[in-house]
Amino acid sequence: MLCIHTGKDLVDFAVLFITWAVPFFAGMIIGKFWIGLAVWFGLALLFFVYVEALILCRHCPHYAEEGFILRCHANSGFPKIPKFNPRPMGRIEQVIWLLYVAVLFLYYVPFFISSEQWLLLGLTTWALVAVSWTLQRTQCTRCCHLSCPVNRVPDDIRKGFFENYPEFDRAWKQHKQNNS
Ligand code: SF4
Ligand code: SF4
Repeated sequence: MLCIHTGKDLVDFAVLFITWAVPFFAGMIIGKFWIGLAVWFGLALLFFVYVEALILCRHCPHYAEEGFILRCHANSGFPKIPKFNPRPMGRIEQVIWLLYVAVLFLYYVPFFISSEQWLLLGLTTWALVAVSWTLQRTQCTRCCHLSCPVNRVPDDIRKGFFENYPEFDRAWKQHKQNNS
């Protein structure tokens, strides 16, 4: 699993992000969508600095590690502002996270259509499909955030996780009880 992440895991994640980011920024710059870009940066900053920590990361074992700065295979370097909570993500948190991710990574669609940048629309969409596919198969199958809505860790490894992380086991059982 990725509870113990290495520099290489972080590089893998960065390479995937760059694959999508290059055609995205190219199209936004060619189309001179300066206000659109500024809004995207604002939304991305708000998401990565606070919203994602609040609804996703604070329920992840990486968040429980010592220090104010997050260290993991994806969001290393961001601050841990909300308090750690070992319970699983709730349904509403999962839906908000998926919607916010969709807004950030499908943001280019109306801009590229309105400016008729068909090649970059195709390239960015292809990059998004390739990145999602690769992430799902290489990272989400071994990521220790088991309540992330796109987590794909097999059941036997999940079982081992709860045996080794009793704090999460207790919090998940309590959460299930409270919601039954
Ligand atoms: S692995 Fe995912 S959920 Fe956990 S801290 Fe990193 S980005 Fe957040
Ligand atoms: S399951 Fe995948 S998307 Fe979710 S936190 Fe882990 S690596 Fe990120």
